[in-house]
Amino acid sequence: MATLEEYRTLVDTLNRYSKAYYVDDNPLVPDAEYDRLYRELELIESQDPSIIAKDSPTHRVGGAALTSFEQVEHRVPLMSMGDIFNDAELIDFNNRMMSDTDHQSVEYCAEPKLDGLAVSLIYINGDLVQAATRGDGRVGENITSNVKTIKAIPLKLTGDSIPSYLDVRGEVIMTRDGFNKWNENARLHGGKVFANPRNAAAGSLRQLDPKVTAKRPLSFYAYYVGEVEGYDLPHDQYHRLLELKKFGLPVNPNIKCVQGLKGLQDFYQDILSRRQSLNYDIDGVVLKVNSLDLQQSMGFTAKNPRWAIAYKFPPEEMMTKLLDVEFQVGRTGAITPVAKLDPVYVGGATVSSATLHNQDEIKRLGIKVGDTVIVRRAGDVIPQVSGVVVERRNGTERDVEFPKVCPVCGSLIEKVEGEAVARCTGGLVCSAQLTQAIIHFVSRDAMDLEGFGDRIVEQLVATKKISTVADLYSLTEDDLATLILDGGDDKKVRFLGHVVAKKLIAAIDKSRVMPLNRFIYALGIREVGASTARTLASHFKTIDELSHAAYSKLLNLPDVGPVVARHIVDFFMEKHNLEIIDRLVKHEDGFLFSAGIELTPLPQQSELTADNQPLLNQTFVITGTLDSMGRNDAKAKLLALGAKVSGSVSKKTTAVICGADPGSKFTKAQELGVKVIYEEEFLALLKSFE
Ligand code: NAD
Repeated sequence: MATLEEYRTLVDTLNRYSKAYYVDDNPLVPDAEYDRLYRELELIESQDPSIIAKDSPTHRVGGAALTSFEQVEHRVPLMSMGDIFNDAELIDFNNRMMSDTDHQSVEYCAEPKLDGLAVSLIYINGDLVQAATRGDGRVGENITSNVKTIKAIPLKLTGDSIPSYLDVRGEVIMTRDGFNKWNENARLHGGKVFANPRNAAAGSLRQLDPKVTAKRPLSFYAYYVGEVEGYDLPHDQYHRLLELKKFGLPVNPNIKCVQGLKGLQDFYQDILSRRQSLNYDIDGVVLKVNSLDLQQSMGFTAKNPRWAIAYKFPPEEMMTKLLDVEFQVGRTGAITPVAKLDPVYVGGATVSSATLHNQDEIKRLGIKVGDTVIVRRAGDVIPQVSGVVVERRNGTERDVEFPKVCPVCGSLIEKVEGEAVARCTGGLVCSAQLTQAIIHFVSRDAMDLEGFGDRIVEQLVATKKISTVADLYSLTEDDLATLILDGGDDKKVRFLGHVVAKKLIAAIDKSRVMPLNRFIYALGIREVGASTARTLASHFKTIDELSHAAYSKLLNLPDVGPVVARHIVDFFMEKHNLEIIDRLVKHEDGFLFSAGIELTPLPQQSELTADNQPLLNQTFVITGTLDSMGRNDAKAKLLALGAKVSGSVSKKTTAVICGADPGSKFTKAQELGVKVIYEEEFLALLKSFE
């Protein structure tokens, strides 16, 4: 049994966390930690209900509305929701629903639990007249001007027949793509870096200047009708949501009507298995008794509807200790601080290191070695340290010291004014840069030397078997067969052997005929990614032509700005680089020491006609997940047909190719009236050009 003092401390702690989360949009601990303490509190209160304090978070919804906004009283309160964490609790919930409804098997509307900010939207005669946050459930903040900047939310309901009054509830979210892009940009160019999309959505919505909100990539899904007048909506949750779609309100495409326990379990598993591929954060599923009559007969507790529950997923944010910070050297010498963590299970994997991006990020986080940190692992993005739990410090933590010289080669580290990244000045003298340059050269989108994993390259560099990418082409079978496959320390060492070595030599041979664009990309010129390399190859027939290209000519190419043009010119000014290219490519005069790589030119932009490039002058945008191929493959196929592939939708976009769970690009396409092509149609289009 907890003492009164322990109970009071727990209430105060949770209330402090709640204020930081709901009111300041600046959580102090991850949700999993809050949920753990909340459960502890619930247990104490259930053992001794007389202890329950008036300000206990178990009896309050959300947090007080900010006074900087006009306050609005909700005609129908916005509630919170009970939550469960495992199958046993799900069985309990279903049993309770069966007994409360007196039904053998209950029908549910099952929905993803979107991790954003709840809002209530009031439409009068079809016009959006008010948008408000939940606040404490009774009184929220008037955020109408901000909400009006969210493109997914209709300012006017559509349809021949609409309600005279509609209070629709839903979640404002920030897409993962939008969130990642936003943070990436903020880290490079300064600006607010958000801890997670939920925070980003909440912080963006509660801005005093709607122009700020307008710049944030926000979206919305409706999930509940608070009140309706002048329209006869269906009497179950699932069909009500479908009806909302008719008014132009976005409803999550993954909602489902399911039956009984098995239906709930299957739904949970299905959404959990697809969680990573969704373009927005979800932290569980919400399970609602479908029939409105049953819902009404069950009613509400002080805080929650009795007919719904949130079944939470394993967390994507966890706390752990920062054991140390190491510094990695990348291909271009960029020094990346990497957090070494006490291993923690988060987002479905055990994480023991996470990027800290750069020196500015360390400063921004105010992170110290020994700190308790919040690790986030969501979607396909590498794990990040999203925050520090400052209150867990005990005084033994120490500042992170950024090295002045390269930890690998000892060359000076340089930080260019205005750039976030610090770089080792050692160039290819630095074995770390050399290793990374070779790893890039052999990678799939570059020379595609299948089988050359990082470990093999690292050994080849460490044993000085190669010191440039050109040396790869003089490797012998013996050089490779004697590399270590695994083992070492206490375990018996196994060597690569001749069978694998033969395969590696074959991969090298295969790369001796290579499209020019892949070769340009493989060279690893700074800021020249696969798409710029393709642009270059479609304007210059040979590597020799490119190497002599004037800065001004490069600047005239699409997608090449002053920085990229300067990097290209600088690269070809470097004698060492020209020597390596000389050793790699095939020479007409039969230069003896060359690797003999034959570079096949791309159709030149100046020679393109609608015949050999049927999609010339057409621009496509890809959104969502395609079943039949990755987005990169889809992009490559379109580019090969002469099309442009853009990252954003505009009126000039020819069509948006839409896979499962499309992002905001889909909504934008609909708004602008841009054609949307689904996967089947896209495949048929590709086939028509075969
Ligand atoms: P809740 O998040 O458990 O559930 C209610 C909310 O779910 C609704 O307000 C709505 O915004 C959202 N929701 C998403 N999809 C929905 C759908 N399809 N149907 C209905 N609602 C949907 O409850 P809560 O009271 O908003 O918040 C409690 C949670 O907030 C805690 O479990 C905790 O994880 C988090 N929290 C964290 C901290 C922290 O310090 N990290 C502090 C306070 C609260």
